Amino acid sequence: MSNIRTSVKCHCGQRVISRDVMQTGYYLRLFGPSYVYVKYRCSRCRKLGEQFIKQEEWEAGILKDSTEELAQDDKERFDTLGAIDINEVIDFHFALENLSTMDGLDPAPPAKKVKQRSSTER
Ligand SMILES: [Zn+2]
Repeated sequence: MSNIRTSVKCHCGQRVISRDVMQTGYYLRLFGPSYVYVKYRCSRCRKLGEQFIKQEEWEAGILKDSTEELAQDDKERFDTLGAIDINEVIDFHFALENLSTMDGLDPAPPAKKVKQRSSTER
């Protein structure tokens, strides 16, 4: 598994950890691997950089920093949350795609759920 990287590194060689990260994004691809986009400021050379990281590498805890002041329990919990978070994003993407294929995109009905769908339109 030599092509799975275990850390994000700046061009100067400094490792990028979670507190250096300024922005992350998610690039979902239906075919092929999805990517997490990371924008960071290097803690050593202070330069901005950005990288795309394969989703499975991201989930492996690529930004884990052993010096983070977290209790081990919390750390494990946050690691778990992090992984779930990406999956939630994926679910969200798919949910949105399903939405756009449904015909029921008319404005949300008032609080009470109206049972009969208006058969008068179209
Ligand atoms: Zn650097």
